[in-house]
Amino acid sequence: MRDWERISTELHRRYKGKIEIIPKVPIRDLQDLSIWYTPGVAGPSKAISEDRDASFDMSWRWNTVAIVSDGSRVLGLGNIGPEAALPVMEGKALLFKYFGGVDAIPLVINAGDPEEIIALVKAVEPSFGGINLEDISSPKCFTILERLRKELEIPVWHDDQQGTALIVLAALINAFKLVGKDLRSAKIVLFGLGAANYAVLKFLKMYGVNTGKVIVVERPGIGILYDSHPRLEEFKDSMPHWYEAALITNSEKITGGPEEALKGADAVIAASKPGPGTIKKEWIKLMSDNAIVFSLANPTPEILPEEAKEAGAKIVATGRSDYPNQVNNSLGFPGVFRGALTVRARKISDGMCMAAAKALASYAEEKGLREDYIIPRMYEVDAVAMEAEAVAEEAIREGIARKIIGRSDIRNEVRTLMERPKRILNVLQKAGQLP
Ligand code: NAD
Repeated sequence: MRDWERISTELHRRYKGKIEIIPKVPIRDLQDLSIWYTPGVAGPSKAISEDRDASFDMSWRWNTVAIVSDGSRVLGLGNIGPEAALPVMEGKALLFKYFGGVDAIPLVINAGDPEEIIALVKAVEPSFGGINLEDISSPKCFTILERLRKELEIPVWHDDQQGTALIVLAALINAFKLVGKDLRSAKIVLFGLGAANYAVLKFLKMYGVNTGKVIVVERPGIGILYDSHPRLEEFKDSMPHWYEAALITNSEKITGGPEEALKGADAVIAASKPGPGTIKKEWIKLMSDNAIVFSLANPTPEILPEEAKEAGAKIVATGRSDYPNQVNNSLGFPGVFRGALTVRARKISDGMCMAAAKALASYAEEKGLREDYIIPRMYEVDAVAMEAEAVAEEAIREGIARKIIGRSDIRNEVRTLMERPKRILNVLQKAGQLP
């Protein structure tokens, strides 16, 4: 396998970052600058001072997102700090632009306390059309997301939560179709309940899954959650997401660890600790026929797909591009934000997330589901475009769009904006500007 880390380090030194800001208006002479800057620019400023929402029509705000991270849980590297998080956030900005035509600004911050992060994001709201929270550790990420979603008038999204859950749900819908079982009444095990799986639980509930049949199994020492777990009262303050899950899952009050949890399960979604060996083959053997195994830890899944298959799993998904069925957030956030920004949405509602998941699932279904194809691949740009269109339409339907446009206008804008960065890159490449 290629040494990606070494190659990437060398190329980051060479290019000194991966994104830059370039003008998008004609500048033919100094007079043009009197339009784009003083004295002319006083005109749009006055117009916006009379109607703040005009900032979405007369500045880049409508298409610009902040990627906010305190660097407290970066990839699988832990709390490496904001500066070290910057290459990751720049990479995210690159994906936003390349796949969604969205301008995204990395904003790594020296703030760890949830209240500080909330205050900072609220302060920068006027600059942006949306906020993407990234790589902020759990459990503080839950409060931050919930508060900002309520208190801001622009979409707020935590990709490690909603982004992951959206793709997991889309893939799960199709996996269940393929094995001919009913997702809503299935026995599903969530292996690890951090940022990713807490959001998965919420999305499953929104989709109509009977959460009483969902079993959450946490790390050794905690085990299976249920409403009379010996440490329940302690979780109330220290791990409120575990507390909440304990109350709504596992109505049979199964106790124990992974073996007890996985016995007879139709699906397991693991987002816990890198493997191999975090999930044992013997545990997968305990699952029901045609078992579905999503093993999402990065960089190494909790159980390797070949081992899961040997143990009897029918459908396996991971976060990796070198295996089939990649559960990859890049299929989610560019499309969701493209759709939300296109209609100037005030929020990304749960309904918009559901619309996105269903659009991705339908796209793959129309192409033809197989054990190794339950979710579109990253390069299937039509899937992302369809997702964006579904999100935009849902925002209009729910009355949270500032701009009401018809289906064909949504489609045109989405497709044009998604193609634009590829065209620009082509031009730069041909002009020798990408050494
Ligand atoms: P997190 O730290 O918020 O949560 C992890 C949870 O797993 C914690 O609650 C922890 O106690 C639990 N855990 C640890 N060891 C365990 C064990 N042996 N058994 C059961 N539970 C255990 O992290 P997160 O953001 O939820 O991410 C979890 C993993 O999933 C990471 O490896 C991350 O890279 C990966 N992930 C992958 C994708 C993807 O698209 N493939 C998306 C999000 C997260």
